[in-house]
Amino acid sequence: MSDYKINTKCVQGGYQPENGGPRQIPIIQSTTFKYNTSEDMGKLFDLEASGYFYSRLQNPTCDYVAAKIAEMEGGTAGMLTSSGQAANFFSLFNICEAGSHIVSSSAIYGGTFNLISVTMAKMGIEATFVSPDASEEELHAAFKDNTRAMFGETIANPALTVLDIEKFAKVAHAHGVPLIVDNTFPTPVNCRPIEWGADIVTHSTTKYMDGHGSAVGGAIVDSGNFDWLAHADKYPGLCTPDESYHGIVYAEKFGQGGAFITKCVSQLMRDLGTVQSPQSAFYLNLGLESLHVRMPRHVENGQAVAEFLQKQPQVKHVSYSGLPGDPYYDIAKKYMPDGGCGVVSFELKGGRAAAETFMKNLKLAAIETHVADARTCCLNPATSTHRQMNEEQLAAAGIPAGLVRMSCGLEDKEDLIADLRQALEAIG
Ligand SMILES: *Cc1c(COP(=O)(O)O)cnc(C)c1O
Repeated sequence: MSDYKINTKCVQGGYQPENGGPRQIPIIQSTTFKYNTSEDMGKLFDLEASGYFYSRLQNPTCDYVAAKIAEMEGGTAGMLTSSGQAANFFSLFNICEAGSHIVSSSAIYGGTFNLISVTMAKMGIEATFVSPDASEEELHAAFKDNTRAMFGETIANPALTVLDIEKFAKVAHAHGVPLIVDNTFPTPVNCRPIEWGADIVTHSTTKYMDGHGSAVGGAIVDSGNFDWLAHADKYPGLCTPDESYHGIVYAEKFGQGGAFITKCVSQLMRDLGTVQSPQSAFYLNLGLESLHVRMPRHVENGQAVAEFLQKQPQVKHVSYSGLPGDPYYDIAKKYMPDGGCGVVSFELKGGRAAAETFMKNLKLAAIETHVADARTCCLNPATSTHRQMNEEQLAAAGIPAGLVRMSCGLEDKEDLIADLRQALEAIG
């Protein structure tokens, strides 16, 4: 599959049916797998043979879908997780431990920010947050002797900043550390971070990949490009014997292309158990089969809505990297020539009251905390996720009271714009 274009990989990557096999990915809804001898099964427990024994570790349905996502991203191996949160946690915790340090872009999903700054801090893993716009010098200055990973989001949710992947990768590699990129918003249809130097790619498959708001999930893909053994002192978990598997050394036994994911599955998934269900993986695959057809429409609608909003008297400011004049316009053109995603954010001049009136009057766009599925939805942080904050606190957090985040779905853009127009008119 690796020679095919992304559109073909979306449809036919991963699962390859055998002669007479089911055309669609079979849902192997089974916790366990049968063997004839304990010797056969023992080989699996020792990681001597590949195969299935318990769905907390691996399941064929999930593996078919993970293989497709790995092909789409241009990686060597992949795995599914129960959520995007689990994917990001695993991608970091696979190479960090108490005493490690992470350099992360500050423009990341709120859940990931909390994971790194609060929960992982409790585990003894420190972090330094850097602006996604930091210069190379500023990025270098954030690194310490115990830094083990650098992290960022291609297009940040909800800030909509665009990561300079090449710059971040260059700095990370100068310190002998991999770059992990959460590629949820553009998806591999619009950006493939590995082509720009990222080492590990993560996803909340809950968003565009699933695309229909039907299943929460996550994925991790390894590029196979990071040479763990060349930095063995930093990554003992990959480069020294694992006593729980009779002393195998992941980086030696599974090579540069397989070590990261094999360790992540056989240690973290074994011990923490945040698996995606085979049924959810099946839904995810249905979404992937049309991802390349849906993403251009999300981009088309996002662009049309952003251009419309920019001209309206009630609107103070629009953030969308497809708008000429947006601070991320040039960098978005470089990394995402076909566009980024369908999420637009904008500030209403009338603040909280205007946002409330506007949202109340929307007919097509629903009020939801979700983003990135087929149906247009929107959120006003000041009256929902951040409603406990007053105007001053909102300003300090960089969230104006009149800010609306709009996730443009797959409806007709004329209908979306007409809906926005009448809701704006209701503000007066
Ligand atoms: C939603 C989201 C997550 C978290 O994913 P869940 O599937 O909700 O756990 C992580 N990163 C980004 C960029 C997201 O948008």
